[in-house]
Amino acid sequence: MGRQAARLWFVVGCYLLAPYLGLDSFEVDPRIAEVWPLGGVGFVLLTVVWGLPRRRLLLVLAAMLVVCFVTAVALGEPPAYAAWFGLVAVLQPWVMAAAYRRLRGAPGWVPRHAADVGTLLAAAIASSLLVGLLGGYPGLAVTDLPSKVLLWWVLRNAVFSFVGGLIFCVLFHRERTEALPASAWYHRVGLAAVAALCVVGTYHDPSLPLSWLLIVPSVWGGMTLTVRGTAWLTLYVALVAAGMTYLPQNQFGYVGLLPAASIVDLLVVASSAFALLLALMRDQRARLIEELAERGRESEAQRSLLEAVLDAMDEGVVVVDDQGVRSHNSATRQLLGRPLPTDRAMAWSETFGLQTLDGRLFDDATLRRVLYEGLDGERLEVRVGHGADARVLEVSAQSVSHGGDASRLLLLHDVTAQRARVRELSSFASMVAHDLRGPLTVLDGWLEVVEDDPGPEQADAALARARDASERMRQVIEDWLNYAVVQEGRLHPEVVALDQVVTGLVESRRSAGLDHDEPRFHLDLPHRVRADPGLLRQLLDNLVDNAVKYTAADDVPLVSMRSRADDEPGWVRVEVADRGVGIPAGQEEQIFEEFHRGPAEGRSQGTGLGLALTRRIVGMHGGRMTAHRNPEGGSTFVFTVPAA
Ligand code: ADP
Repeated sequence: MGRQAARLWFVVGCYLLAPYLGLDSFEVDPRIAEVWPLGGVGFVLLTVVWGLPRRRLLLVLAAMLVVCFVTAVALGEPPAYAAWFGLVAVLQPWVMAAAYRRLRGAPGWVPRHAADVGTLLAAAIASSLLVGLLGGYPGLAVTDLPSKVLLWWVLRNAVFSFVGGLIFCVLFHRERTEALPASAWYHRVGLAAVAALCVVGTYHDPSLPLSWLLIVPSVWGGMTLTVRGTAWLTLYVALVAAGMTYLPQNQFGYVGLLPAASIVDLLVVASSAFALLLALMRDQRARLIEELAERGRESEAQRSLLEAVLDAMDEGVVVVDDQGVRSHNSATRQLLGRPLPTDRAMAWSETFGLQTLDGRLFDDATLRRVLYEGLDGERLEVRVGHGADARVLEVSAQSVSHGGDASRLLLLHDVTAQRARVRELSSFASMVAHDLRGPLTVLDGWLEVVEDDPGPEQADAALARARDASERMRQVIEDWLNYAVVQEGRLHPEVVALDQVVTGLVESRRSAGLDHDEPRFHLDLPHRVRADPGLLRQLLDNLVDNAVKYTAADDVPLVSMRSRADDEPGWVRVEVADRGVGIPAGQEEQIFEEFHRGPAEGRSQGTGLGLALTRRIVGMHGGRMTAHRNPEGGSTFVFTVPAA
């Protein structure tokens, strides 16, 4: 059986009993019932079935009417009166439920605020008054109105409807999990015992001024129990109080109209509402604290994410306002070489040694104007640091407004590499132009010779030289293209056998007609490596080219290549040795620099890019490359690549 169904059957069971308990409890005064649960139980039943389709709801109302009618008839009331009684008894909880739902202005039954509790109380009183005016209380003729007896009935009915309604709204309709911690069992047992003592103390002699005792369990429970726990406690107090009614020598009875016991009734209302309100407010407070902590955690997470993002940026980010520097990321510290002071009056140029591009200290007033007041997007280029550590920073600023405050966002962008690249490109371009100009002049010269003397001998010689010149130009252009490709830095590694790469390379050199310059190879390459085949081939091709270029023209070039497992596990070491002129002494490192050329020796001069590219290719694979002169003549180039 589901929870919902269990609740329904429980309330239906209570409702079958409710009219009987009420109609049968006229002990002390024949006009006034000792207990009157009909309105309260009816209201709770309606809250459980309220969501049913209209037709079914009407059926439930009709069934309630029948129960009241049958019970009244069984207890000796005339059928006409019993029917009227039943009708009014069903009308009251319906009016109460409808009024509560409408006035509360929010879906659901559980009171959330003091205003909801007030609405429930008002609905209970108004609907109870309606029953009295319609003559729905047994023994209360409409002609008696207005009377103290009516007041009694209204009070009695309202107390049962309000207290019962409040308790069961919480117990049946509160779906939220408790935010308050459950108390220990011995605390609950102690509270129940004290509550029972207080209720007995109060009802033992209602004429004594002991009613305040009821407040004790309410305050205690409301301050320490969960909301549901408080509802149970309130129910328990109400049941104990109602139980007192059935004790012999009933002290709860009425001595005259509006006796001290009525004050106790009102106190039950007040203490129940008070206890539950207290618990609800604590619950709301606990939830708010939880929500606040959650928000705090969220904003902390967001803040640290933002900080992590800012710190992960290569650009320096600084926020400044009227007070000075508000925040900055770690890239700023790195770019400027030290943490930023927060003081607005700080002299930027002196603090960080900011210079103009030609090395003078930057005028601080200009800097401050751009940083604090300049136009959005205005840019400055400053130099920071000296010598090899010097960097060029592009500083831009823009205004940002947040939450009514205005700040400036400064971005520091390291353009050192960019500037170096621009410099490199322009020197590269002039280098290429220079390199092409040489062979072009040669070409022009020989064309002129042929023009002047077009005899076959001259023509043959001129053609051979012209071909050399064009070959030279081809070489320059190829180096240039390779340089551009490798600068892009894309790598597609795969497993390759070194000897296959070299065999392919040798064959394509032969078929390209380089026979006359072809070296003699001595190969010992048993290893397989993980490398980009195209780049690896280009690397080896460069080395072979150099071996040929830097061997005296009348010597046969020799290239010996061998591979070994490197000392570092997982790496293969490849050595390419020749018997040429040898690396210029003391230039074992410089020869790898871009555009570095040794003295003109060997067969032809290059662009100074070949070895720079070669080392870069090795670097892209994670390896190292070195070169040295062989004691017996020639040079050896050694590089490492990942083993397959
Ligand atoms: P390039 O050959 O175009 O001048 P490289 O970067 O290939 O440029 O070589 C740079 C310098 O290194 C060469 O000018 C030469 O002096 C030296 N070098 C390169 N390879 C060898 C070699 N196998 N033997 C002797 N010197 C070499």
